[in-house]
Amino acid sequence: MGLTEQTNLQKLVELRNVTKAYGQMAARPHVVLEHINLSITQHEFVSIVGPSGCGKSTLLRIMMGLSKPEDGEVYYHDRKLDGVCEAMSMVFQTFALFPWLNVVENVELGLEGKPFGKEEKRRRSLEVIKVIGLEGYEEAYPRELSGGMKQRVGLARAMVSEPEILLMDEPFSALDPLTSTHLREEVLHLWADPTLPPEAVVMVTHNVEEAVYMSDRIVVLTSRPGTIAKEVMVNIPRPRDPRSAELYRLVDEITGMIV
Ligand code: ADP
Ligand code: MG
Repeated sequence: MGLTEQTNLQKLVELRNVTKAYGQMAARPHVVLEHINLSITQHEFVSIVGPSGCGKSTLLRIMMGLSKPEDGEVYYHDRKLDGVCEAMSMVFQTFALFPWLNVVENVELGLEGKPFGKEEKRRRSLEVIKVIGLEGYEEAYPRELSGGMKQRVGLARAMVSEPEILLMDEPFSALDPLTSTHLREEVLHLWADPTLPPEAVVMVTHNVEEAVYMSDRIVVLTSRPGTIAKEVMVNIPRPRDPRSAELYRLVDEITGMIV
């Protein structure tokens, strides 16, 4: 993509000087994120990497409006975000499925609060189930599914609302290596399909190889309090070879930044 095209791309969400602390009432509040300035643009796959506990999950929650920063603002399409952003949805590391609901019912939860009738919710859910490779499992319960299938349900539930921005918090880290490799490919496949939402993906991971393999840009956070140490563009053409020397050079460079 040329530079001129890039400048025409829309800024979707922006964190301006965001600071987050827990334990405000305590003598020494615990500052988790400090002075975070970050924007996400159309057609970008952005990864956020950093050591455990540096505030990656907190940052995603703030971006979506699930958590409020003590200082700074979140802008969505240049308007200050107030409350949960309906145009975003989240995929969780632990899948977060309801065990008493079957696959299609879990997926339908992604449409809660949307102005669709029961039948329309079912129709949309069945459609996304097909796209995500869960066909035939509509009536299955989470306990009957493998980890990989459970995360497909998590992904389907996030995608059913056709989010403009898909947020993923360590989506592959609870899966075995073979399953995670497979699901990563599927996510990239969906991402490459211009007919499908989302417009941007923001993924938190502690796996640098995964970040380099999947992303257009990587945001490296420092340890507590989390600040942005560096942003790295990944200009390796897609589809990428996960074992290429070029990719590993970047993996080494980024791993060296994480302290
Ligand atoms: P990461 O996802 O990078 O591992 P988190 O965003 O989950 O980090 O957490 C960052 C820090 O904030 C950790 O020290 C964690 O213990 C603390 N923290 C997270 N959520 C809460 C909360 N609800 N109340 C108090 N402390 C929290
Ligand atoms: Mg986390």
